[in-house]
Amino acid sequence: MVQAVSTVAAPRDRQPEVWHSLEIGEAIARLKTDQETGLSSTRATQLLTEVGANELTAKKSQPWWLKFLLQFNQPLLIILLCAGLVKAVTGSFVNAGVIWGVTTTNAIIGFIQESKAESAISALAKAITTEATVLRDGEKVRVPSRELVPGDVVLLTSGDKVPADLRLIQVRNLQIDESALTGESVAIEKNIRILQPDTPLAERKNMAYAGGFVTFGQGTGIVVATGNTTETGRISQLMEQHTDITTPLTRKFNKFSQNWLYMVLGLSVLCFVVGLNSRSVNEALEAAVTLIVSAIPEGLPAVVTVTLAIGVSRMARRNAIIRKLPAVETLGSATVICSDKTGTLTENQMTVQAIYAGGHQYTVTGIGYAPDGEILRDEHPVDIKSDRGLQECLIAGLLCNDSHLETKNSRWVVMGDPTEGALIASANKAGFSQPTFDKQMPRIDSIPFESDYQYMATLHDTPRGKTIYVKGSVEAILQRCNLMLNSEGQPHPLDCVETLSRANIEREVNIMARQGLRVLALAEKPVTDEQNTVDHPHIADGLIFLGLQGMIDPPRESAIKAVQACQSAGIQVKMITGDHAVTAQAIAQRMGINKNGSVLAFTGAELAQMDKTELAQVAEEGVVFARVAPEQKLRLVEALQSKGEVVAMTGDGVNDAPALKQADIGIAMGGAGTEVAKEASDMLLTDDNFASIEAAVEEGRAVYKNIIKAICFILPVNGGESMTILISTLLARDLPILSLQVLWLNMLNSITMTVPLAFEPKSQKVMQQPPRHPNEPLLSGSRIQRILAISLFNWIVIFGVFEYIRQTTGNIDLARTMSINALIAGRIFYLLSISQLIPNLIAKMDGTMKENVDIPAIGFGIVGAILLQIVFAHVPLINEVFETAPLTLQQWLFCLGVGSPMILWATVVNRLDPPN
Ligand code: ADP
Ligand code: MG
Repeated sequence: MVQAVSTVAAPRDRQPEVWHSLEIGEAIARLKTDQETGLSSTRATQLLTEVGANELTAKKSQPWWLKFLLQFNQPLLIILLCAGLVKAVTGSFVNAGVIWGVTTTNAIIGFIQESKAESAISALAKAITTEATVLRDGEKVRVPSRELVPGDVVLLTSGDKVPADLRLIQVRNLQIDESALTGESVAIEKNIRILQPDTPLAERKNMAYAGGFVTFGQGTGIVVATGNTTETGRISQLMEQHTDITTPLTRKFNKFSQNWLYMVLGLSVLCFVVGLNSRSVNEALEAAVTLIVSAIPEGLPAVVTVTLAIGVSRMARRNAIIRKLPAVETLGSATVICSDKTGTLTENQMTVQAIYAGGHQYTVTGIGYAPDGEILRDEHPVDIKSDRGLQECLIAGLLCNDSHLETKNSRWVVMGDPTEGALIASANKAGFSQPTFDKQMPRIDSIPFESDYQYMATLHDTPRGKTIYVKGSVEAILQRCNLMLNSEGQPHPLDCVETLSRANIEREVNIMARQGLRVLALAEKPVTDEQNTVDHPHIADGLIFLGLQGMIDPPRESAIKAVQACQSAGIQVKMITGDHAVTAQAIAQRMGINKNGSVLAFTGAELAQMDKTELAQVAEEGVVFARVAPEQKLRLVEALQSKGEVVAMTGDGVNDAPALKQADIGIAMGGAGTEVAKEASDMLLTDDNFASIEAAVEEGRAVYKNIIKAICFILPVNGGESMTILISTLLARDLPILSLQVLWLNMLNSITMTVPLAFEPKSQKVMQQPPRHPNEPLLSGSRIQRILAISLFNWIVIFGVFEYIRQTTGNIDLARTMSINALIAGRIFYLLSISQLIPNLIAKMDGTMKENVDIPAIGFGIVGAILLQIVFAHVPLINEVFETAPLTLQQWLFCLGVGSPMILWATVVNRLDPPN
């Protein structure tokens, strides 16, 4: 696709404009934009139609016919094609035609399934849109990155993905990781200084290029190129859009089929050689070909792919979006889930309930962000005007704040950070309104909140002179204070009297934290009138402590249940948080997160002191890890992995990326997560809820079970058939089943009956079992025994019915048809015995089952299989091609009767190797 070329975006074949060597004013003029207000939304819309969307044109993936041909590139299918060739050479053209026809059908089914799976997965990935913050009509708005146009003024902050090529016009400690474009692995500190036109790309510090990640600081830039005209677009020209649908399981599976193949080839040579003794070359060949055809589970690869794809879509329905397919399996074997607290385990609905200011304790009534509620002292409403200490504490919370409250559908909601929303609400309850104070004491500068620092600061022009307000964790704030405001609003040296001492403040913090309250400390610092910026050194010391505000953040009900489900499934749950240890411990206790009944908590500072072995021990024993810096998450993941754990870890910030990558399953928050975290993750939660992780684990386990079930269902038929061919050849008897009939069984019948297994609902027991060992082989000893036992039954049925009918009726076609029908009767019983259908129906009748039962899938499979057999026996054309014969009603019932002992046989087998 060729993009429309606009006046501003450089066409692909010309030299790009040298934006880095232009004055900012010149760049702005050329792009006809405005630094302060951005583009107008009408102009943006117009440009969007002119220039096209800001996305890289996807490279055409492989043409469909090539993909289709690649379906044949499987050893199993190649052998079948060769077998058909052997038939053709020996003159059996009908046989050859059918073998090729069936092989092609198989390839078509595989092709359709695979394309469906691929498109489902890539559609999910596309549903995750990245957004950018831009100025439009003078307002800060979030728009999907694909709607950016040249001239847009983009605001960047740490964690953002650079959405287009930008000429930077303002930076503040801005660092961008542009490794994807330049190969430079360290983040680059940006500035806005003008550069020589010939400056190489990697050194253009006044530019930010699409695809880079902001790792630190903030910046503003003007879009100079979008979509394919960006530097990334030029280099890669076209983005490879490839959805890989291989996973460790499918690889294991391919390995398994390869080994299987060698065995089958060996056996068929044996069959041919032995066959020559008693029959013609042609007949011996037929036996050898039949053996190959019978031993190959043609329908299986399709079922594996379908099952994985169904797992992915089931997870998506439960708010877990898989970004990397192998995660589907890994989830099923997860042994530890490390989860963020705020927002994932808890609601992230903060309400201030306790305040400590001027040496006094206050309680706050009301819930949510509405201004309805009172501030009480000793259970009496306070007179706010006469309480200067409380006033300052509330005002600090109001001013040192990047969020605001709004009413939506007559409900108060927070736009921004809930922690900050709570502080606005508590100030509102005292009658202080944010717009008024923002006008009276305008903000001049700020240091935004970062987890690494645990505080935020703002500089204001107040009637009393310029003042810095700071808020953050108690640990971060208290050590920077040497004064404290008393209740008259007078600064007082800390630690002179008991009521105004650090020890006393710590005591108050503990009282709040033990109730599970998240505690924020507030402070201020008067500065000289010359000061116009605020930076970390300005608040290193000399702050005046204003007070504490403690807010509740109730646990999510669904998360409490999910924690229980995980723990009873043998999965440890660990809470990792930047919050205070005592608060975190209280929440963990309330949610029932524990290990062997105890809730050990460790802080980041403690972890930092430990060596590797100690850390591994503590990582295993601990349940709560508090005040953990993002870098320590990585160490924790590694420590757990060194103990053999399969770790799922959540994250949302920029600095979480390494831990997300290291974890076996990195989980990013779809809502609150930064682009960096999303990019590094294997899975996204659309609702940021812990319960969705548990749901994904559940589905992951079910996927694996269903795949194993499908294997255990298909292989015994191959086993029974191969045993039949081999034994009959060795005994020099007529073959009870012909190669075409085998194909009918292995493909048409197997697919109709096995694909429904992929849709099987999960077993009620799936979360009552310990996690599967990640190195568990595809077929364990007991599963191999199961397959052999059922194969044996199948052999008895085929061989027995054939010999018996042949001898009693002398009709060899009828004997073959009946032996196959009897085999399928047994197969239906076996399917019912391993499926969830009957247990679920029983559970439904008991009323112990809430979810809907998927009766149709298995039911349709069985009905379909029966209809196919009727066609097999009664349609004249099929009779001719497949050498079958019609049955009487008695003969049908006879087949059913012969298959029915499978009920008992399968019951015994299922006892020894439980299928669910
Ligand atoms: P978590 O999300 O795990 O609770 P954070 O890293 O967000 O951890 O927060 C760590 C600490 O930083 C909090 O306990 C709180 O004291 C402080 N904090 C959180 N949000 C803000 C904010 N917006 N401004 C100032 N301090 C904050
Ligand atoms: Mg947070």
